Amino acid sequence: MIIHVDMDAFYASVEMREQPGLAKLPVVVGGSAQDRGVVAAANYAARKYGIHSAMPVAQAQRLCPQLVTLPVRMPLYSKISHQIREIFQRYTPEIEPLSLDEAFLEVTASERLFGDAVTIGKRIKHDIANELSLAASVGIAPSKFVAKIASDIDKPNGFVVVKKEEVQAFLDPLPVSRLWGVGKVTGGEFERLGIHTIKQLRQQPLQALQYRFGKFGEHIWNLAQGIDPRKIVTDSRAKSISNETTFAVDISERSVLQNHLLELTEQVAFRLRQQGFYARTVQIKLRFADFKTITRAMSLPSHSQTTKELWQAAKTLLDTALAGRPRAIRLLGMGTSSLSRQPSGVQQADLFSHPEQEKQRELDQLADQIKNRFGQISIHRGLKPTNKI
Ligand SMILES: [Mg+2]
Repeated sequence: MIIHVDMDAFYASVEMREQPGLAKLPVVVGGSAQDRGVVAAANYAARKYGIHSAMPVAQAQRLCPQLVTLPVRMPLYSKISHQIREIFQRYTPEIEPLSLDEAFLEVTASERLFGDAVTIGKRIKHDIANELSLAASVGIAPSKFVAKIASDIDKPNGFVVVKKEEVQAFLDPLPVSRLWGVGKVTGGEFERLGIHTIKQLRQQPLQALQYRFGKFGEHIWNLAQGIDPRKIVTDSRAKSISNETTFAVDISERSVLQNHLLELTEQVAFRLRQQGFYARTVQIKLRFADFKTITRAMSLPSHSQTTKELWQAAKTLLDTALAGRPRAIRLLGMGTSSLSRQPSGVQQADLFSHPEQEKQRELDQLADQIKNRFGQISIHRGLKPTNKI
């Protein structure tokens, strides 16, 4: 069985834990409105106003004038993410993090030691609440995507188990937008085709979906049948580390896309540093409004885990991919591959001939330390008018 653990409104919940006075107020964590920042997390009080993550902060502030907007403190969330990971590791070494606050756990081999998956899921949820004063939602199912839906369906503080024989009955009545990677916009496309539920989707001829949506059509048709053979990929075995986000509405404005890409890049860079990896290849993934999905990749001069270097490559890829024609984007991803445990093929001595690289590494470390020590002060990178960071 697979357990999907997803922290509830993670960044916002962490801030509420750190500053109890915020408990009842609508709170978002995100970039600044002036820099066209987006909401990275909204607590449940803020969601009542229709605010959700990936929404421009300026728009969120219009929806809720008394909104408390806090800067993103990634090193703090990263530290807590480590603590959550340590709890997972008590029960299984098979952990696939999807982001700082979300992971899949394969617990089949652990059941002999700790009891069945339900018992393990309950213990993890309890440990997180008890030791970290944070709420997690837990989904348990035979496959990754069903576990992911299960953790989401009863948020916040959810605990949903879907047994093997219950999978199809669980999926059938759900809206197609629940399927991983479909998102609200693609869901709308299905609505127009008269396909509302997963049951209606799985009853379509496969060829029709392939014709309309290409490879993606086959993928979601399989998911609709409950077929998802994807295994857990632990970071230590990872060939790549990436993050992606499906937007609630298509986005065509480049500066907004850049903000999202920077956010993704910071998360990926943190995961690289946490795991002790250096990446040689940077790639981005774009899914357009017409479902066409492209990836673009480039090699770095040497292996890196520096936010600035990864970001420069990612931004170049985005600018090139969008050159000349603004197009509506529904999914944006950023990833790194060709991972190494060493900074590079370069010899140690060569490091000193790259003072700029050395400086960036120190900056990343310093930024982490300062932010951890001084709490409120954020030196989260914003997009300057020059697009330099
Ligand atoms: Mg979450």
